[in-house]
Amino acid sequence: MKHIVLFGPPGSGKGTQAKRLEERHNWIQLSTGDMFRKNIQEKTTLGELAKSYMDQGKLVPDEVTTQMLREAVESHKDAEGIIYDGYPRTTFQAQALDQILEEVLGEKVDICLSLVVEDELLVERILKRAETSGRTDDANEEIIRNRIKEYYSKTAEVSEHYRDSGTWIEIDGVGELDDITDRLSSALHSHYGEL
Ligand code: ADP
Repeated sequence: MKHIVLFGPPGSGKGTQAKRLEERHNWIQLSTGDMFRKNIQEKTTLGELAKSYMDQGKLVPDEVTTQMLREAVESHKDAEGIIYDGYPRTTFQAQALDQILEEVLGEKVDICLSLVVEDELLVERILKRAETSGRTDDANEEIIRNRIKEYYSKTAEVSEHYRDSGTWIEIDGVGELDDITDRLSSALHSHYGEL
């Protein structure tokens, strides 16, 4: 079973590209952001808690996020591959993912693909997405800038975790959607060989 982490700041295109890779291959996208939004929609206790952080552009605490991710991995033990979209976002989470995969499947993260996009373009893209996403955290520039700040203070350091294990690859996240998908696919081909 393949384990692919799709990494990058908010608005870098993780969700969009994860869906495209999911369609090209027989893989499953696990998006912690989508899971939280589903909980918010269903008005669960977890959703209420997550919303209080998301609405401020802050990360949801590691423990609850990790428990949710663990359950998602446990319910997809038969998948051909999993694309992790939006997890891990802290060093704690990167270590937790290693532990979960080891405990649940006896496996490891194969590769971390990091989408690179400059900050001002991120803000521009997210504000544009707000026109159709209906996401309250997309519609307000101050919240967006907080999310980017959280990325630099807590998430960017996750690169060291994957650089150390030799599975870190940076991908230019600017350009046509198809071109970016092709860049990701070719990195995956060089890693796995034929897919
Ligand atoms: P984006 O990448 O555009 O910020 P996401 O849907 O991935 O969008 O995340 C939206 C919000 O959900 C984040 O700002 C954060 O509050 C919360 N979230 C998602 N994934 C995590 C995670 N792994 N750890 C903590 N919070 C998370």
